Amino acid sequence: MDKLYFVVGSQDLYGDECLKHVAADAAEMTRFFNEQFKGVCEVVLLPTVINSETCIADMRKAQCDEDCIGVMTWMHTFSPAKMWIKGLQELRKPLLHLHTQANEKLPYDSIDMDFMNLNQSAHGDREYGFILARMHIRHQVVAGYYRHQKVLEEIRRFIDVARAINFSRHLKVASFGNSMREVAVTDGDRVESQIVYGWECNYFALGDLVDIINAVTDKEIDKKMDEYKSKYVMKTDRIDSVREQARYEVALDKFLAQNKVGAFADTFQDLHGMKQLPGIAAQNLMGRGIGFGPEGDYKTSALSAVFMNLAKGRKGHTGFIEDYTYDLTEGKELELASHMLEVPVDFAATKPEIQVLPLGIGGKEDPARLVFDGVQGDGIQVSMVDMGDHYRIVCADIELVKQPKPMPKLPVARIMFRHKPNFSIGTAGWCYAGGAHHSVVSTALDRRDVELFCKLTGTELITIGDDTTEADLMKLSNR
Ligand code: MN
Repeated sequence: MDKLYFVVGSQDLYGDECLKHVAADAAEMTRFFNEQFKGVCEVVLLPTVINSETCIADMRKAQCDEDCIGVMTWMHTFSPAKMWIKGLQELRKPLLHLHTQANEKLPYDSIDMDFMNLNQSAHGDREYGFILARMHIRHQVVAGYYRHQKVLEEIRRFIDVARAINFSRHLKVASFGNSMREVAVTDGDRVESQIVYGWECNYFALGDLVDIINAVTDKEIDKKMDEYKSKYVMKTDRIDSVREQARYEVALDKFLAQNKVGAFADTFQDLHGMKQLPGIAAQNLMGRGIGFGPEGDYKTSALSAVFMNLAKGRKGHTGFIEDYTYDLTEGKELELASHMLEVPVDFAATKPEIQVLPLGIGGKEDPARLVFDGVQGDGIQVSMVDMGDHYRIVCADIELVKQPKPMPKLPVARIMFRHKPNFSIGTAGWCYAGGAHHSVVSTALDRRDVELFCKLTGTELITIGDDTTEADLMKLSNR
């Protein structure tokens, strides 16, 4: 179970009685949080910080515990912040500053100096806020009474993002083949990816995967085919082509487990020893939270795995997509997004059909793929690009819509969406920002999730949505 450590600040200036109150209030808050976040994460209270030594010990404990996704801090009383410097230097996990109080309302009739000295987060949290700012420590502030719904929702968001960052810091990404020849945006600095996000991005020879593919047994393929038949509609009689994809999925599963890999990238230009480009295999794996990037796009692969983790337990759908083509009917512009095969099955609004059809590029046999219409609802489209000296994330608000008419001859799964605030500003903004043609689309996440992820990882963020104007485009173009 993931753990969120709760560290409360005070000092010994007000005596033992005061510290007993602090400990009791902190314990009650911890109990309440555990009731609220049951099944999501465990909130663990650490000893009250009353000097530098307790702070160092608390933060070391949080840093060393593999189950700890982050730390939540709150100053019950005034807690002189020099006591926090060396402890905070030990912590490299997501940090939440909860600016709250044990009491909601002021006891106007009975308030005295003792009450005020005990309940002075307005004072103590400002002292603490200063040292976080002074030390340039990335963190999130959530302000308000801790039992209020809005505050709980923001803590919950922090838990989700902290869990995703923890997942990210343990993520291994495998590349079969390099980036597609001549393509710029799928490339990137893998050393920087590891420094900033923790991704261990490494190359694996396709031949090693082919060896695993060739060793898959008929029995293993039969079992995978049973799964396909139970989940999907078999819209083909070319069963051997589908079995080939089942073989790939079984082999990829073995490879991922053997190498503890959570995201992978392949390319249609490097399929030596394989009969088809992985289609259903990749689509089904994405449906189980495995990151995938085509054309060697390791960044989108890793980012999709991280965002699928962030969306865990929420309603909605998350996965990789590629910008493809538009309907430019004036005032009703829509985008049709898809890929040559590999659209995540999580986007399916209709029962996916297994089809075997030719693929225009790659020079391999006709691959089996899942074909379906996409889900609807408000969502975001997120892209990560390497700007040379830093990573940039572009996050656009979109509305996924029902496709206006059937597309019976389109042999791939697809989603359709509307840009915000409109087509011209939304897509021009994306172009000015340098957003890729590969992205992660989600109806489970919103802009605030991405903002928090970027804040805590120190990633530049450009947002596009209903608040984006022509004047913003001017600023973007002059960046
Ligand atoms: Mn592509």
